[in-house]
Amino acid sequence: MLKFWFAIPLWQRVVAALVLGIVVGLFWGPGAETIKWIGDFFIAAIKMLVVPLIFFSLVSGVASIGDLRKLGKVGGRAIILFLVTGQIAVWLGLSLGTIFQPGAGLDTSAIQTGEVPQSNFTGWTDMIVATVPASPVQVMADGAVLPLIVFSLLIGIGILMAKSEGEPVARVFDSGSIVMQKVTAIVMELTPFGVFALIAWVAGTLGVDALLALGQMVVLNYVGCLLLIGVVYVALLKLVAKVPVVAFFRGMIDAIAVSYSTASSSATLPVTLRCLERNVGVGRSVSSFTASLGATINMDGTAMYLGLATLFGAQIFGIELGFADYILIAVTATLGSIGAAGIPGTGLIMMTLVMGSVGVPLETIAFVAGADRIMDMMRTTTNVTSDATIATTVAAMTGDLDRAELVSADDV
Ligand code: ASP
Repeated sequence: MLKFWFAIPLWQRVVAALVLGIVVGLFWGPGAETIKWIGDFFIAAIKMLVVPLIFFSLVSGVASIGDLRKLGKVGGRAIILFLVTGQIAVWLGLSLGTIFQPGAGLDTSAIQTGEVPQSNFTGWTDMIVATVPASPVQVMADGAVLPLIVFSLLIGIGILMAKSEGEPVARVFDSGSIVMQKVTAIVMELTPFGVFALIAWVAGTLGVDALLALGQMVVLNYVGCLLLIGVVYVALLKLVAKVPVVAFFRGMIDAIAVSYSTASSSATLPVTLRCLERNVGVGRSVSSFTASLGATINMDGTAMYLGLATLFGAQIFGIELGFADYILIAVTATLGSIGAAGIPGTGLIMMTLVMGSVGVPLETIAFVAGADRIMDMMRTTTNVTSDATIATTVAAMTGDLDRAELVSADDV
């Protein structure tokens, strides 16, 4: 029995669990809540990996880059690609909202409102100060990813500057990062069970009703995300990275399934790294640097959603927006997507920032909150796919992509 189970490649077990979970959830209804603990167990196990994995893999990634000039080469390219795809995303959201007018004629009485979260975004300067890890230990205990990334980058740069004297420390981090990958492999075996329980719970509790109530908005959110994945990322992969697209997506399927079911880029990060390195052939130095940074600051799905949702709110409440407002939305949505943590629901929290800047009533947040989760799942998958695409593209540009690995990734 066990032999039979492990003989099936993990990605096939995960896809089967996704499909089965949706069916079971739709039939079971709210009763599916009873198995949600299995999903919580899985998320807790994955979250356990985030801090040590980022710390070990980012430090060893930076150290393995070898010299500071190459670090600039990888980092500069990644950040430019993050910004370009982010702008395409937010303007796509604005275009979809303008063309299809999802908020026009919406019957608001049918909308199940959720809790309205408060923004903890207090502005540019606070955001910059918050990236300094005043106490690295505290930062790790809190799981604050952005300052942890800054701290890991600095340690990595310190190792590079210390040259041969830094080597013993570099070896500790190399070995630690390999050990963390093994621990990740153990946790990955829980994926089919976690994905099944989470999807069954979402389908059972939100179900078809919530989809109908916010139907147009949900559909447009999915269309926007699929356009980003199917057009923008595919173009980057095909034209710039020049990799076989189907093989890429097959290699990333575990990360795609985990991101969709957990709605958390940070929780998915260990899986993203594993897929990139094992199945796509992205060198560890590039994958750990680009994907870890991307999981925190590169959120195209969220940026697209913020643009779309703000127009949705303006349409519900009959607010006229001009081109200057669109530019303001693009700027604040970009900031919001950078500031949002890679955990479920932060896109919703960032709406206060964007909507507040152009005078769209914050009550809009209550309207969309009920169906946010189902949209969060898709935008998180987009965020993760973007990170993976950019990591692969940067690796192709800097010569850190093992193309043979991608083609031969049979048993993913
Ligand atoms: N849940 C998303 C993520 O982790 C962020 C968001 O809420 O948009 O990528």
